[in-house]
Amino acid sequence: MALAHVASMRSEDPYRKVGAAALDFDNRVIGTAYNGLAPGFNAPNGFWDDREARQKFMLHAEVNLCSLFRRGEAKIVATTTMPCTACMQTLCAYGIREIYYRETYHKSDAPEIASIYGVRLEQVDFSPFAVEDAR
Ligand SMILES: [Zn+2]
Repeated sequence: MALAHVASMRSEDPYRKVGAAALDFDNRVIGTAYNGLAPGFNAPNGFWDDREARQKFMLHAEVNLCSLFRRGEAKIVATTTMPCTACMQTLCAYGIREIYYRETYHKSDAPEIASIYGVRLEQVDFSPFAVEDAR
């Protein structure tokens, strides 16, 4: 979750910053990702001003994360916000077994999808810079 948090800080989106990290079956880090624009795309002036207009162009952290591995390679995903319905479907398609998130997203059907597919979906309490976490 610390890696996911740090990844979220890289997001250019001024309104919502989401980060995610993937681990393989040996608990090795495969990679980290955050929500943003497609690689190589430079936002024109004013692009970030209208949240509604740019929303459809934003690639979610989980989708960017899944671009880093093939199906079956990752076991665990940590994400700073509960996956939205589409991202939860994507994570299931990639064979993710466990998903940990920090903030709830009420519009998401992720809990229902996780339950049906037998994926562990769990909220964790994580304060990135708390003294307890540093131990
Ligand atoms: Zn999403």
